Amino acid sequence: MVTSFNKKDLPKRIQIPGYTIAVKPIRKKDKNVLYGCFEPDECTIYVDLDRPEGIVIETLLHETLHAIIWAMGLELQLKKGKDEVFVATMSPVLRSVLKANQVLSK
Ligand SMILES: [Zn+2]
Repeated sequence: MVTSFNKKDLPKRIQIPGYTIAVKPIRKKDKNVLYGCFEPDECTIYVDLDRPEGIVIETLLHETLHAIIWAMGLELQLKKGKDEVFVATMSPVLRSVLKANQVLSK
C-alpha cells in the first residue's frame, strides 16, 4: 500500500554546513513535471507533496544532495550533467545506509 506524505511533516528548512535551505511545496509551474527541485538563487528546495511518502522523502534527500554539491562548490568539479547522475545514484543508497545504520545520523 502506498502511504501519502503527511504535509505537516515537511521541514521548513534543512541545515547544511554554511547554509539554511528553505523547503517549500513545489510551484504550480513545476507540478506534474518535477518531483522537486533545488533553486540556488533562492536557497530553496521545492518538493511535490502530493507524491507518495517514500517519493517525497527520497526527493527531499535528492535535492539536499544537489544543495550540498552547490554549497561545497563541487558543481565546478563535476562535468555538466554528471551531478544529476551522482545525485540520482547516491540519494537512494544514502537513504538506505542511513536507515540501516542509525548511528550514522546521530
Ligand atoms: Zn536531481
